[in-house]
Amino acid sequence: MISPRLQFDTVAVHAGREDLAALGVHALPIDLSSTNPLPGIEAGGLSYEAMANGGTPTTEGGSVYARLWNPTVARFETALARLEHAEAAVAFSSGMAAMTAAILAAGTGRHVVAVRPLYGGTDHLLSTGLLGTEATFCAAGEVAEAIRPDTAMVVLETPANPTLELVDIRAVVEAAQGVPVLVDNTFATPVLQNPIDFGASMVLHSATKYLGGHGDVIAGVIACDEETAAALRRVRAVTGGLLHPLGAYLLHRGLTTLPIRVRAQQEHAQRVAGWLERHPSVARVYYPGSDGDPQGLIGRQMLGTGAMISVDLRGGFEQAAQVTSTVRLFTHAVSLGGVDSLIQHPAALTHRPVAADARPADSLVRLSIGLEAPEDLIADLDQALTPPLSMMAGSRDAAQPTVA
Ligand SMILES: *Cc1c(COP(=O)(O)O)cnc(C)c1O
Repeated sequence: MISPRLQFDTVAVHAGREDLAALGVHALPIDLSSTNPLPGIEAGGLSYEAMANGGTPTTEGGSVYARLWNPTVARFETALARLEHAEAAVAFSSGMAAMTAAILAAGTGRHVVAVRPLYGGTDHLLSTGLLGTEATFCAAGEVAEAIRPDTAMVVLETPANPTLELVDIRAVVEAAQGVPVLVDNTFATPVLQNPIDFGASMVLHSATKYLGGHGDVIAGVIACDEETAAALRRVRAVTGGLLHPLGAYLLHRGLTTLPIRVRAQQEHAQRVAGWLERHPSVARVYYPGSDGDPQGLIGRQMLGTGAMISVDLRGGFEQAAQVTSTVRLFTHAVSLGGVDSLIQHPAALTHRPVAADARPADSLVRLSIGLEAPEDLIADLDQALTPPLSMMAGSRDAAQPTVA
């Protein structure tokens, strides 16, 4: 175990690598074995039983089979747990596999309170009741009333996707009256926010986004206490939504640069958001703090404002279609958090499955700001936002945002 007093950036570089020196290696090793030689029937069997029940492999029995345990994945989990101030972390094949495991571990047939807005996939999973769960969707201030005797979990996202609203984690934890609160920390990352410090029981990441940071891994992870981790590992062992060791390697390697990536992307986003606020085509910028931060969460709960921005375009859907198809540096694509900038239309894509009355406006586009020079990003948006003369005439009529 590395010293608990080290700074975040130091932990990001060193955590989860404690056993490497004894192995005689410096870089993270990738163990691709799908199965492991058994020392004996009895020892192997006991280790298998321990892991199938959510425990860790025994020294005598080894890790048996890679659906139960993999050392490359376990190292990434150790590192992420440290960065999230958690006892443990459990990694999955995607953010949605992680969310599925959290719901299954809470117990089938139970009730979940979900604070909207949420990522479209999470909203979809909960509203369809696919996993046998009944969900009550509500605003952050309505959690206390929504709690029932059979409520197993409260789910929230802050900043929320795609409107970047901030939710007071501690206030929701108090309103939940002892029911475990899961916080989706994908947008903030552990660099800017550690929900466990505010009473959250589980912290979920779509590791596909900032943790991976390079657009080449799909993964999810949940940081939590050891007891919850055992329940999640048991679900993972039984249902098989595990993270491949190559993905775990890329994620663990990427954690070393997470703090500098997030801080630089945030600085660029602040420049872009400031410029967008003054642009005549933009009716409103959604960026943490752009509403003046009435709850006083920036600096207290979230150490910064992040690198995600949404904008309401005066030209409505037509202008959204124009901008997304005329950007040159930004890639028109879903996902976020990578080193390169992306732009997408939530109502048509990421939030398409959300109920019509809760879906983002048709005039909204979401930007994920990368590491490119902000001047170049601004110049790209400027050329994409400047409508051709033929469009200017009708732009007043198109100014009313509509909901698809
Ligand atoms: C992308 C995303 C997810 C889902 O993660 P996948 O890795 O795509 O399965 C969950 N929550 C948020 C906030 C996301 O952006």
